[in-house]
Amino acid sequence: MAHQGATDSGYRTKPLLDFVTKTLAREDGILREIRESTEAKGLPAISVGADEGRMLHFLASACGAQRIVEVGTLAGYSAVWLARALPEGGMLHTIEYDPKHAAVAVENIALAGLAQKIVVHVGAGSTVLPTLEKHGLFDLVFIDADKVGYAAYVKWAVKNTRSGGFVICDNAYLFGNLHRDDLPPGHDDAPKIAPMRAALSMLADETLFSSCAMLPTGEGMAVAVRR
Ligand code: SAH
Ligand code: MG
Repeated sequence: MAHQGATDSGYRTKPLLDFVTKTLAREDGILREIRESTEAKGLPAISVGADEGRMLHFLASACGAQRIVEVGTLAGYSAVWLARALPEGGMLHTIEYDPKHAAVAVENIALAGLAQKIVVHVGAGSTVLPTLEKHGLFDLVFIDADKVGYAAYVKWAVKNTRSGGFVICDNAYLFGNLHRDDLPPGHDDAPKIAPMRAALSMLADETLFSSCAMLPTGEGMAVAVRR
């Protein structure tokens, strides 16, 4: 098939992506166990996939991350990917609103042997983030919690990420609705559109970030380099 410019080439079939995941994902038994047991433990199966976990690991490695903040822990799957990229003495602070999710995450993090490198903070992002400022500046901030909070989280990240550090937003396609101006007001995603667009506008602001891109995962992963 010829190259088709900006449109999807059609190469990204399920079998091909499965092959890529097998080849590059480095999802070992522990990560697989964490991901696959999430639903059985009564948590929603909404963690990033193995391919996205690999991207997070790559991004943390690329910016030499030593200090990371994550908003939205769930069962700790993405936290384990990120923390595995940390050097000795590195630290990941992850924030989870739901105490049940946080408890499962703490268990999984211990299972992964990363209790020394990951602190799980139970509470809302908006209340916990200000308490973390004393540990910054941070090398990487990964935002993956309530979508209505994204603009506020990015605003915090702008203030607390070092020059050259990465700010990353998961689910940036907003479940396919990012571009829609015609969602009925009662739609689940309607209140999330304005804050998600505001978050992305900040990432695109060249006075704040030297570069930004949408990594074309299924959910859209927006990433920007702090100026
Ligand atoms: N990053 C995880 C997935 C996170 S799912 C992974 O990929 O493995 C989103 C999580 O954010 C859920 O566990 C949800 O309980 C939590 N959450 C929702 N609202 C929040 C808030 N205001 N502050 C912190 N966490 C929140
Ligand atoms: Mg997500």
